[in-house]
Amino acid sequence: MTLRETLPGELRSADVGREVRLAGWVARRRDHGGLIFIDLRDRSGIVQLTVDPSHAPEAHALAEQVRSEYVLAVGGVVLARSPETVNPNLPTGEVEVRIATLEILNRATTPPFEIESAEQVDVDETLRLRYRYLDLRRAPMLANLELRNAAVQAARAYLNANRFIEVETPYLTRSSPEGARDFLVPSRLQPHRFYALPQSPQMFKQILMLAGMDRYYQFARCFRDEDLRADRQPEHTQIDIETAFLTVPEIRGLLEGLMSAIFEGVGETPPATPLPRLSYDEAMRRYGTDKPDLRYGLEIVELSDTFAASGFKVFRAAVDGGGVVRAVRAPGGGSLSRAQIDRLTELAREHGAKGMAYVYVEEGRALRGPIVKFLAEAEQTALVEKVGGGPGDLVVFAADDAPVAAEVLGALRLALIDLLTPAPSCRWALLWVEEFPLFEIDAESGGLTYGHNPFSLPTEATMPLLESDPLAVRGAQYDLVLNGVELGSGSLRNHDAAVQRAILRALGMSDARIDEAFGWFLEALQYGAPPHGGIGLGFDRIVMLLAGADSIRDVIAFPKTSSGGDPMTGAPGAVTAEQLRELRLRLG
Ligand code: ASP
Repeated sequence: MTLRETLPGELRSADVGREVRLAGWVARRRDHGGLIFIDLRDRSGIVQLTVDPSHAPEAHALAEQVRSEYVLAVGGVVLARSPETVNPNLPTGEVEVRIATLEILNRATTPPFEIESAEQVDVDETLRLRYRYLDLRRAPMLANLELRNAAVQAARAYLNANRFIEVETPYLTRSSPEGARDFLVPSRLQPHRFYALPQSPQMFKQILMLAGMDRYYQFARCFRDEDLRADRQPEHTQIDIETAFLTVPEIRGLLEGLMSAIFEGVGETPPATPLPRLSYDEAMRRYGTDKPDLRYGLEIVELSDTFAASGFKVFRAAVDGGGVVRAVRAPGGGSLSRAQIDRLTELAREHGAKGMAYVYVEEGRALRGPIVKFLAEAEQTALVEKVGGGPGDLVVFAADDAPVAAEVLGALRLALIDLLTPAPSCRWALLWVEEFPLFEIDAESGGLTYGHNPFSLPTEATMPLLESDPLAVRGAQYDLVLNGVELGSGSLRNHDAAVQRAILRALGMSDARIDEAFGWFLEALQYGAPPHGGIGLGFDRIVMLLAGADSIRDVIAFPKTSSGGDPMTGAPGAVTAEQLRELRLRLG
C-alpha cells in the first residue's frame, strides 16, 4: 500500500468526508485525557490529526508513544472542525483528520531546539547549522528555500526565452585573478601542481563568447578564500551571464528584464524600468558610496563655495587645501541625544575624519550648535538655503579631501537613516551605478590594482588615458544595486588582445608574467573574439533581500560559519597520512 496519497497541508473544507492517507513528521502532540491530538507536518504544511481511543484503539495505543519529530503514516477521514475549534492561522484550520490507522515509520531523538515556534528560533546559529536538517524543517527556512527555487525557475525561464544557453564550466581550473585568494586543490596525477577553484567563471564565459555561444548563463558557484566578513561565504552562487555583440544599453535592457522576471517569480512587484542610473562619480558625490540606498533622501550637499572664505578655520582650511566641505541634512535629527551625536562623531573618525561639525536648525531658520558662532550671517543663510533645512533638523558636515568627505558622509548618512528610521520612499530601490574607475591604488603595495576585474574595457572617452593617467580611466562597467546592496558587477570586456595586454601591463605585470598566467587567454582573443560583455549577479544576496532575510546564510541550504566551517559535517576536516602521501604533500 502507498504510504501517502494526500499532502497534509493541502486539506481544506472541500475535502470533508474524504478518506486520506498522509505521512509526515509530528510537529506537536497533545494528550487530552483520552483524545490525542497530533499536528502532522510536511513540506506542504500542517494538519491536525485526532486519535480517539474508542474509535481506533490500536492507533491510539501507538499514538501514546509518539513524540515530536517521529515519522508517521496515517489513514483516516477528514472532518470539519466545530466552529469554536477552527484555527484561522492555519490554512488547514477548518478541518482535522480522524485517524483510523497509524504506523510509526521512524522514531526521533528529542531535537536540540524547538522546531515549531512561530518566531525565528532564538538559538545559537552554530547549533542550527550543526543540526541543519532540523533547522530546515522550520517553516521560515522552508519558505526561504521555496522562494529561492521560485527565483531560480523564473530566471531560467526568462533567460531561456531570450535565447541564452546554459553551459557548465569547470570547478577544477587554473587560478584566475579576481581579487580574492584562491582555494587550491592539489593534483595527484601531476604532483606539485594545483588546480584552483574558480572565483568566478570569468575567463571561461568570455571564451564561450569566442566560441560563438552568443548568450550564456549559468548558476555558477564561485569560491573565494577571503576572511569572512559578516555576510560573506567561501562559496556563493552567481547568475553568471555573458553576451556577444551587445551594447551596454542592450545588456542593461536584458538584465532589467531578468530582474523583473525574478521579482514577479517570487510575487513581488518589479521596480519600473528603465532603472535609474548614476555614474560612480555622481554616486560618490551624492551618497558617499558606490551602492547608494535610494529608498531614502538625505543627499550629500556640496558647500565648498559657501565656506571658501569662512571664518571657521576647519572649513576654510579644507577648501584652501584643495578639499571640500559637504553636509548631510537629517530631518528630525534634532531629537538625537548627546550620546548618539558622540557615536556619530566616533563613526566619522573611524572613516577618516578628524571630527564631526554639526548644527541644529531651529524655528525661523536660525542655527544652533558649537560651531555657529564661527559662521558669518551670510554663510548661515546660504547654508540653510542649500541644505533646505527646517526646524528640528540636524546638519552634519565633512571638511576634507573629496574621497574622505564622501566616505565619511556616506557612513554618517546610513547611520542617520538607521537612527531616525525615515519612511522609505519605495519598497525596492533598484539602480545602475556605472563607469567605475578601472584602476585603484592597492592599499598594500601602493601600486595599481583593478577595480572590478582586469578584463573590463575602458570607456571610449577615457581609453586614451590608459598610459598617461590610469587613475582617471573609467571602465565600461555597471553594478546593479538594490536597497543599498550591490547585487552584481559587470562590464564590457577587452576583445582586443593588445588592449588587454596594455591593461595587464598597467597593473604592473611583466610580459613574462602576463604570458605565463594569461598567454592562453590572450592567444584565444586573437582568433576572432567578438565584442562581448556580461555580469555576475550575486544570487544569494538577491534571494536574501527578496525573502527579507537578515543574512545570506538563511537562504543557503548548507552555509558555512564565519570561520569557514560546516558544524554539521565537520568540514574542513583532517585527512589521512596516506592521502597526503599520494598528493606528495607534507604538513608544515
Ligand atoms: N566575474 C565578475 C564577478 O565575479 C562578474 C562579471 O564581470 O561578469 O564579479
